[in-house]
Amino acid sequence: MFSKYFIITNKKGEIMIKIQNTSIRSIIKDYRLIWAIGHAQKLMGWDAETYMPKKGIEDRGEAEGILAKETQRLLLKDEFKKKIKEAKKEELNETEKGIIRIFDREITIMESLPPEFVEEFAKTTTKARMNWREAKEKNDFKLFQEHLQKIIDLNIKKAEYIGKHTLLYDNLLDLYEEGLTVKDMDKLFESIKEPLKKILQKVKDSPTFLEKHPLEDQEYDARKMDELNHKVLEKFKFDLGKGRLDISSHPFTEEISMNDVRITTWYPKTDFCRSLSATIHEFGHALYEMQVSPELERTPVAGGVSMGVHESQSRFWENLIGRNEEFVFRNFEMFKKHLPFLDKYEKEEVYRYFNNMRPSLIRVEADELTYHFHIMLRYELEKQMMKGKIEIKDMPLIWNEKMKEYLGIVPTTDSEGVLQDIHWSMGSIGYFPTYSLGTILASQIQNKMEKEIGGVNELIKEEKYTEIKEWLGERIHKYGSTYTPKELIKKVLGEDVNAKYFLEHIEKKVKEIY
Ligand code: MG
Repeated sequence: MFSKYFIITNKKGEIMIKIQNTSIRSIIKDYRLIWAIGHAQKLMGWDAETYMPKKGIEDRGEAEGILAKETQRLLLKDEFKKKIKEAKKEELNETEKGIIRIFDREITIMESLPPEFVEEFAKTTTKARMNWREAKEKNDFKLFQEHLQKIIDLNIKKAEYIGKHTLLYDNLLDLYEEGLTVKDMDKLFESIKEPLKKILQKVKDSPTFLEKHPLEDQEYDARKMDELNHKVLEKFKFDLGKGRLDISSHPFTEEISMNDVRITTWYPKTDFCRSLSATIHEFGHALYEMQVSPELERTPVAGGVSMGVHESQSRFWENLIGRNEEFVFRNFEMFKKHLPFLDKYEKEEVYRYFNNMRPSLIRVEADELTYHFHIMLRYELEKQMMKGKIEIKDMPLIWNEKMKEYLGIVPTTDSEGVLQDIHWSMGSIGYFPTYSLGTILASQIQNKMEKEIGGVNELIKEEKYTEIKEWLGERIHKYGSTYTPKELIKKVLGEDVNAKYFLEHIEKKVKEIY
C-alpha cells in the first residue's frame, strides 16, 4: 500500500527501499498532508518573490498564516506525536532515525509556539517583506522601521517560547543551523578576524590595489547576460527539466521538490560579475537539492540539512569554481561573445576583476576576503538587537559606525546600508552567520575533494564538472537531512569546522594577485 512512496527504482531499474520500518512508513503516510502544504507554501513563497502582483500581498499573507497554523495543528496531533514516540523505541536504520530526529525537532519547536503566534509571525513577515522592498526602493529606513521592530519583538518572543538555551540568540541560530551556538560562532569569527584584518591591510598597501575596477562601471546588455548565465548553467549541466532561472530583487533558490528546484538571479545595469556570481551561487544551492537521494523524496529528510551546509555548496561554486583562474580563462571566449566590451581586456585582467579585493558597501558584491566583515557586522547587530540593547530607530547610524570600524567606509544611503538585505524582513534573525560558516566549510570541502579526485584547477580546465558534482552528491548531497550538520561535517571531512583551509586559500589568492 505504500508502494508509491517507498519503492523507487534507480537508473538501472533496481528497486531501492530506504524506509523499511512499518511504524515509520505509517508516520510518513500521515505526513503526506503536511508535505503537500509545505509544497504549496514553497511555491507561494517563490511566486511572491517573482511574479505576484504587488496588491496580492494582503491575501497571500493571510493564506500563508492559515497554512502555517494548519501545519502546526497537524504536527501536534496526539495520534501523530504518539506514533513518533513509539517509533523511537524500535530498531531503526540511519534514514529512519533521521526522520524521527527531524520530526522531533519540529514538534518540539511547534509545541513551544502558540498557534496565534505562528500565524502572527507569518502575516507580519509577509507584509514586512513588501514594505522592506518599498523602503529600499525609496531609500528610506523609516518606512521599514516599525516592521523591523515588530520582527525583533517577535523573534525575542519566539526564542523565549523555544527556550532550549538560556541565551535567546542561541535558540534562533539553532533554527538555521542545528546545534550551532554563539559560543561556536564567536570562536570561528575569532579565528579569522585578526588574520583577515592583516591580509586586508596588505591588500590595501599593495601598489596594485584598486578601489574600483573599470569593469564595475561597465554597462552590459541584460538579454545577452541572461544568455551567458544560461550558457554557464549549461556547462554545469543544470537540468532545466527540473529547474528554472528567473529574476528577482534578491537572488534565491526555492526547492519545491527535488524535481522542481528554481533559482533566480538579477541584472544590475553594470558590473556583470554580480549577475554571473549570483547565478552560480544559486546553482550551488539548487544542485544540493537536486542530488538528494530520490528515495528520500516526500519525507522530512529530503532537502539540505542546514543553511550553513547549504551555503558551503553555493559558496563552493560561486567562489572556488566561479572565481577560479581556470574558470575565467577557459570561458573567456564565451564571455566575450556575450559581452563584446571584454574585447578590450586580457583574460588575466578579467580574472583580476572577478577577484578585486577592497572594502565595499554591499555584502552580496563583496569579495571573498572582505565578505566575512559584512557578516560579523550583522552577527553583532543581531546579538545586540536580541538583547534589546539597540533602539531600532538608530539602526542606520549603528550600521554605519560598524561599517567604519570593520571596512573603513560608510554608506551614504539606507539602501546601500541597513536596508540592503532581505533577511530581516523575512523574519530571519540568526541566518547571517551561516554564510561565514558555509564559506569556511567550502574551502575545507575543496581540500577534501582534491585529495580524492584531484586538483580543482585541473578539473575545471578539463571541464570535468560532472566529476565534481558526483563527488559532492556522493559525499554530501545524497544524505539530505539524515544526519545533523555537525555529524555530516565530521563524516565528510573527518574533523569539525576549521577556518585553516579558508585562510590558506585566501592567503594564496592574495599572494597571486597582489
Ligand atoms: Mg545563498
